[in-house]
Amino acid sequence: MIRLTKLRMKNFKSFKQATIPFSNGFTVIAGPNGSGKSNIMDAVLFALGETSLKSLRAGRLTDLVYGGRDNTDNYAVVNLTLEGKNQTYELSRMIDRQGKSVYRLNEKRVTLSEIHNLMGELGVRVDGHNLVSQGDLLRI
Ligand code: ATP
Ligand code: MG
Repeated sequence: MIRLTKLRMKNFKSFKQATIPFSNGFTVIAGPNGSGKSNIMDAVLFALGETSLKSLRAGRLTDLVYGGRDNTDNYAVVNLTLEGKNQTYELSRMIDRQGKSVYRLNEKRVTLSEIHNLMGELGVRVDGHNLVSQGDLLRI
């Protein structure tokens, strides 16, 4: 069993900086329309290597970089912590203003296919039912 335990966003969509812990059990994210709930889901997909702009709800990759008035950085980075029985995986994906992605696994640079392979082994699939988006839900 592998569990998502923590999400950290820096300059991702509407979040300048945020850390979201997922404790054991059921976590609910609640808030008014447009407050960033779905952006959190997008951050999870992003860290897992989602490349579909439609799934990330962005016109261009660079739209993912925080664009608030107080934006000062030219990059977005999401860290996702996954905990298995005996192992912790720290995934990180960063994009710069050119939309170029850099992936890391436990601080070490890896390729997107290495991320995909590892997630496949762990049974975490962005296109599976681990993650059900708002759109998918409405279709169901
Ligand atoms: P709903 O309840 O309607 O589904 P939600 O809580 O899921 O709302 P989101 O879709 O996560 O809301 O957030 C939408 C907000 O995120 C919009 O206000 C949009 O302007 C903002 N946003 C998206 N990308 C960026 C960005 N790069 N920089 C700043 N804000 C952004
Ligand atoms: Mg939403």
